Amino acid sequence: MTLRALYVDFNSYFASVEQQLRAELRGKPVAVLPVVAETTCCIAASYEAKAFGVKTGTRVSDARRMCPEIIFVEARAHLYIEYHHQLVKIVESCTHVEQTLSIDEMVCKLTGSQQKRENAIALARLIKKTIAEQIGEHVRSSIGIAPNTFLAKVASNMQKPDGCVVIEAHELPEKLYPLKLGSLNGIGRRMEERLNRHGIDSVQKLYSANRLQLRSAWGSVEGERFYDKLRGLELYEVKNDRSSLGHSHVLPPKLRTHMAALSVLHRLLQKACMRLRSYKLHTSVISARVKFLNRPTWVAESRCSATDDTLILTHALERLWQTYPKHKAIPYAVGISFTGLGNHEGRSLDLFEPDTIQSEKRNSALDNLNMRYGKNTVYFGGAHNALSYAPLRIAFNHIPDLDIENHGTKEK
Ligand SMILES: [Mg+2]
Repeated sequence: MTLRALYVDFNSYFASVEQQLRAELRGKPVAVLPVVAETTCCIAASYEAKAFGVKTGTRVSDARRMCPEIIFVEARAHLYIEYHHQLVKIVESCTHVEQTLSIDEMVCKLTGSQQKRENAIALARLIKKTIAEQIGEHVRSSIGIAPNTFLAKVASNMQKPDGCVVIEAHELPEKLYPLKLGSLNGIGRRMEERLNRHGIDSVQKLYSANRLQLRSAWGSVEGERFYDKLRGLELYEVKNDRSSLGHSHVLPPKLRTHMAALSVLHRLLQKACMRLRSYKLHTSVISARVKFLNRPTWVAESRCSATDDTLILTHALERLWQTYPKHKAIPYAVGISFTGLGNHEGRSLDLFEPDTIQSEKRNSALDNLNMRYGKNTVYFGGAHNALSYAPLRIAFNHIPDLDIENHGTKEK
């Protein structure tokens, strides 16, 4: 089995950016706080602070007790986001970035000769070297290389900071045995307790369980998917297996306003609707979220009759937006997700409404045009401002056809 995924995880990301920018913080225990106040918690800790046991979520008073020398700095969200965009660009200059998974994580797909161990390691070195040259040597990353994204992420966690770990198929499963169950992505505290109840209390036991045992431990087909992921299979989201579908996006500096956030949400919604239809699914729950660094995330959810119609869901988003908070906090990431998914057969009634037939025609025309001429050809008005920004992959790789951009039909 070849190496197919290279996972880049930045170490102590917010704290490293601060150390890169402020020489006086280098080599020192640093904790980043959303606001400087005794009542708050650390949102990031430098490696020097981690050595004292300080981590994300540690309260300020506890952090000071664990490490009296600790330096608290106030978060500067805009800088972390700018660095995020620069880092994506740098990695993209070394190899294609398949997906950015969070502000400090991204995954690249290895193809052709990159799949050879020595070439994949050389690529990881090139990424680190280019970051050191263009950003600085204090923003470090741990890179994991493996047959699939799941194992590449596991590998990236095995050596921190500044690591590079390869997991090859022939090293499975033994190479994972020293890990704790909870260190595998997808096994949170509650899942771990569940697995314990099924007699699984180590990675070794997890590996010895068969597909059906994992299905019953998870209580869903997710257990079988986990079985495959552990064995290096790259799983693509399979049509009716999904429980949710969505997109999220870290906002570039220009779009960190209330209105731009809404535009990006519209764009993400339209993209998600197109995927929904390509899987022949309907959604009955739409949720929107906006993250702020210094404020709790805004999440709003609404239920509707099962639909895959962009216009209906656009109206649902507009209604959700009316509950968007009035405060002036700066949004830095947005997301849309659809849950309550079902297939066409499961849907009743609405299908025979004349409006539904009309909207199906409109949606399929929309999808055909977008597939033929590029993702931005036809869109609903709300996304207009966000067209060239969301998602990142489009921003960096989509070269719009100017003729179509200028003269194409615009639905509204
Ligand atoms: Mg990280």
